[in-house]
Amino acid sequence: MPSVLMPMQAGISRSAERIALVSPDFNDCPASCRHDSLPETESHGTLTYHDDPALQPGRPPELQFAGDVGPAERPVVGIYREIAASQWWPAERMRRAQFGQLAALVEHARRHVPFYAARLEGVRPGASGLVDEDAWRSLPLLEKAEVQREHADLKSRGLDPREKVAARQTSGSTGVPLEVYITWINRLLFAAIRMRFLHAHGYEFTGKVVDIHPMSAEDPLGAVRRHAMWEWPLGELFETGELIEMDICSEIPDQVDLLEREAPRYCVTHPSNLRLLLAAFRKSGRRLPSLRMVRTRGETISPEVRAECREVLGVPLIDAYGATEAGYIATQCPGHDHYHVQSETNLVEVLHDDGTPCGPGESGRIVVTPLQNLAMPLLRYDLGDFAEVGEACPCGRGLPVLRRIHGREKEVLTLPSGEKRYSFFPSTLFKDIPGVARFQIVQTKLTELELRIVAERPLTPGECGVIEARLENQAGPGFAIRWAFVDEIPPLPGGKRMEFVSEIKAGG
Ligand SMILES: [Zn+2]
Repeated sequence: MPSVLMPMQAGISRSAERIALVSPDFNDCPASCRHDSLPETESHGTLTYHDDPALQPGRPPELQFAGDVGPAERPVVGIYREIAASQWWPAERMRRAQFGQLAALVEHARRHVPFYAARLEGVRPGASGLVDEDAWRSLPLLEKAEVQREHADLKSRGLDPREKVAARQTSGSTGVPLEVYITWINRLLFAAIRMRFLHAHGYEFTGKVVDIHPMSAEDPLGAVRRHAMWEWPLGELFETGELIEMDICSEIPDQVDLLEREAPRYCVTHPSNLRLLLAAFRKSGRRLPSLRMVRTRGETISPEVRAECREVLGVPLIDAYGATEAGYIATQCPGHDHYHVQSETNLVEVLHDDGTPCGPGESGRIVVTPLQNLAMPLLRYDLGDFAEVGEACPCGRGLPVLRRIHGREKEVLTLPSGEKRYSFFPSTLFKDIPGVARFQIVQTKLTELELRIVAERPLTPGECGVIEARLENQAGPGFAIRWAFVDEIPPLPGGKRMEFVSEIKAGG
């Protein structure tokens, strides 16, 4: 059974109702403890583990931590060991654990978060100690605008004043910036999940990383920052290579220069920036021989960019899906292009417009509940993203599968019939038309698409005809096409460059 933890024994969080899906003992485990190798029948703390290799065909070798783990990093190692095991749990067992965890979260929210006092009246744990699933589904979704409006009433009054609470700002690329609060345990879980993700994909921590991402507002445009080791706690737990950060707003030739000069083993960036880098490498014919893998985050990734990464740079691409409000939500399976929900930290629901859950092959809106955030509980939070549910994964992990992350509402094309086209990736429209430096397609009306193009030379009528024919092939008939040749297509705040934007509400 999952547990409501008493904080003093763990010593990393002091709130009266600190909770975690994983065992409460993680801070007290000796370094020699190998939770994840205990047989099914043996229990450790309040949880039991199975270790049937037949159920875990894709299980990576055990991660070797530095011999001397410091006190600040010890809880991360403990959590890592727990989630290295729980990813192999059967789906039903994880679901029971989640609904037990929800019981503690709901109780905390009802008692200490004014916004939920009345809202949670009908959602009480049953005799089993779990929240009833039907009662849970009757709880209204929490909208982003509501979080902005009710911000003060969503903050918990029940945290110990010594609890470390941090504010996090969303980038605002989806419209209005939003501030949320998280606790220290959320940071620990975030770090442990990242470790699980990287290790599953065979990341070698000794490699050099170039991470091209939006820098803080204080950094000058095009800033580069060097670090002797990877970010906390990886640099403390392992012998790591260097980490070089570069501002994503840097010019593409400067990014290419940096990559060629630094010869990293890993490159991390947003998919839209990667696309520009791939175009530059394709044009120059040069390669990055040191590169082993590209990692993306922050935006929807299209199958075309995955394929192009392999073709142009000769390396695989791995992707993770998350949100400032919820941390990691799903990470790519090491054996497939689809994603595993990070069930230890988020209850993820994918819902039809009528609120019923989507089954495999169906797409709907993503609704998350971060399971351990007591500072600002977000219960059934509508992220404004869409995904397609997948079948259980043959890799053996019990974590649910999202076959595709479709992205934001404003990345969803609405057909004149009102039907939604979730995965609309216009990069194929411009394939083999070298004069197009940048482009963006904007759905301005239900029946109108505007093609914004930064062209290096005038396009011929023949080329325009090819683009229009491809567009009709992808988007279907019924759209008027408007051409707009522009000098620049500025990125959104946060450095995101969207190849498709809808200015109408999806479904509207
Ligand atoms: Zn898998």
